[in-house]
Amino acid sequence: MIVTKFGGSSLADAAQFMKVKQILDMDHDRKFVVPSAPGKRGPGDDKITDLLYACHSAVKEGKPFRHTLERIRARYEEIAAELSIPMDLNGEFAEIEKNLAAGVSRDYAASRGEYLNGKMLSKYLGFPFVDAAEVIRFTADGRLMEEETNVLVGERLRNMSRAVVPGFYGADENGQIHTFSRGGSDVSGALVARAVNADIYENWTDVTGFRMADPRIVPDAQYISTLTYRELRELSYMGATVLHEDAVFPVRKAGIPTNIRNTNDPKHPGTMIRANAGQDNGHVITGIAGHKGFSIVSIEKDMMNAELGFGRRVLQAFEEFSINFEHLPTGIDTMCVVVHEKELAPHKEEVLARIQELVHPDQITVSDHLALIATVGRGMVRAFGTAARLFTAISSQGISIRTIDQGSSELNIIVGVDEDDFNAAVKAIYDTFVRT
Ligand code: ASP
Repeated sequence: MIVTKFGGSSLADAAQFMKVKQILDMDHDRKFVVPSAPGKRGPGDDKITDLLYACHSAVKEGKPFRHTLERIRARYEEIAAELSIPMDLNGEFAEIEKNLAAGVSRDYAASRGEYLNGKMLSKYLGFPFVDAAEVIRFTADGRLMEEETNVLVGERLRNMSRAVVPGFYGADENGQIHTFSRGGSDVSGALVARAVNADIYENWTDVTGFRMADPRIVPDAQYISTLTYRELRELSYMGATVLHEDAVFPVRKAGIPTNIRNTNDPKHPGTMIRANAGQDNGHVITGIAGHKGFSIVSIEKDMMNAELGFGRRVLQAFEEFSINFEHLPTGIDTMCVVVHEKELAPHKEEVLARIQELVHPDQITVSDHLALIATVGRGMVRAFGTAARLFTAISSQGISIRTIDQGSSELNIIVGVDEDDFNAAVKAIYDTFVRT
């Protein structure tokens, strides 16, 4: 049994709705469907969710919102008319307008995109509609209650052979609507997949899966056919964005693989994400990801290694200013703390003064404008000389490596380079491991 989630671009207009129906008709194991709100039909278009947020802000600022609501309504009406979906949109919009005018919450406003799209899709497919407000449970302050949700969804869908459950939102015990963060329908889909114990969670979007590197840097980067959940975590932490981060946990826990598929290219198998997988693409690495905007704070002090509590005190200085550390490469008499530049910048002088006070270092230096690049691969454990190949690839381009961090998991090697060298370094790693 398969749970399918369709993203906003997969449901942006009538033509996309038809593709979704064809995909479901192709495999009758696709029983439960989790839709997003209609997304962009092309560049420059609006997402329904953004228009709903705009309506809500207008109400807050005492400005008119009806023309924006009309644009939303026109999008749904067009889909309903083209597909002859019998929908009482008048009634639905009268209610939404009334509620908006009465000052409903921002989450309620946003959730109507998925709610209406779910209702339309359920009518179009002939699948029953299950309102997420009844089964996806949040606390009153808006945190997901995962176990309660698991029970509620499981009980509700147990005896249903098919259903549409809208993504992105749920409700607390009192019926107040709450949403996930943006892109959160991925999370709803994963929760439904876990609750019905699906064999596969299919996440249908507008790309054919993950690529081995960012196509803006490596335009012909290969698609990754199989990824493990751990690799996914490392790659998405470093900026590979196809799936909402929180969508991993429910399915991973339940041992359900996630398959990223392209609604516009349904024959392509996409990327399969599993708990464990053999190496399948013939390459030692699975993917490369990275981003800019890091700073390194290097602290030097003779005999640092013999000073008990040194590391803790250094980190305390960051913690006091609510700065997360990202990496911590250390030497015998040096300790480097890698942080996000935008977190450090507003408190730089204060943090340095605090480190001075707490550990009396011989020297502190800060370098900004650093890019981190993660080279990720479950195959690295078995391969010999991966680090040597990686460093040679980068240095042969005349790029100097500013920092290196390899966790003992051997799943990931992270290097830091100057931001100006970022693209060239990613290309060099890709060329070395994938093209040769
Ligand atoms: N429609 C929501 C958004 O744009 C949720 C989603 O599409 O997953 O963020």
